[in-house]
Amino acid sequence: MEKILCYSCNKSKNKLEVKKSSLLPINLLICESCITSKFEPRWVIILAGRSNGSDHVKEFIIKKRYLGNEITASELLI
Ligand SMILES: [Zn+2]
Repeated sequence: MEKILCYSCNKSKNKLEVKKSSLLPINLLICESCITSKFEPRWVIILAGRSNGSDHVKEFIIKKRYLGNEITASELLI
């Protein structure tokens, strides 16, 4: 069976939930621990920041509700 990875932590989990992104009108496959932590995938935050402005994603960046390298202001401006 093809392994599906969590959109947020990129790990393969036995169980992934379909969750509507709170930032973009898309559905995400997210594992339970990322849901519990209220994480959004890093790329979703960057995309949403680029299309809706950094104020829109400020909460996520300040509270670091994502995994991976820190999202910099310049990434939101490109
Ligand atoms: Zn995850």
